[in-house]
Amino acid sequence: MHEFGLMQSVLENVEKSARDAGAVRVTEIRLVIGEMSEVVPDSLEFAFEALSPDTLSADAELKMTMVSPRSRCTQCGHEFEHKRFMRGCPNCESLVTELLAGKELHIDAIEVEMPE
Ligand SMILES: [Zn+2]
Repeated sequence: MHEFGLMQSVLENVEKSARDAGAVRVTEIRLVIGEMSEVVPDSLEFAFEALSPDTLSADAELKMTMVSPRSRCTQCGHEFEHKRFMRGCPNCESLVTELLAGKELHIDAIEVEMPE
């Protein structure tokens, strides 16, 4: 289950950012996940529950936003968002398109609590 590896690196990044900022704990982690990334949100949540104890993120709320993939048509240059498996160009109906975004998983923002 590759969600464990992903969550591990998310938590490491969050932990480092929070410590660098001098925070005492992380209250919220917001992730942006491309629909083509094959990430299962439930599995990610499960990995978070398993890996977050003993980190600053132990009580953080995990918020995940799924984003539609985006492609560019190699024929007419049109850029468009689409459903996972519908990548044909809506402008010229060409099937030759290039995926620009949708496989990513990144940390959008974190909220932290600073010492009194
Ligand atoms: Zn096109």
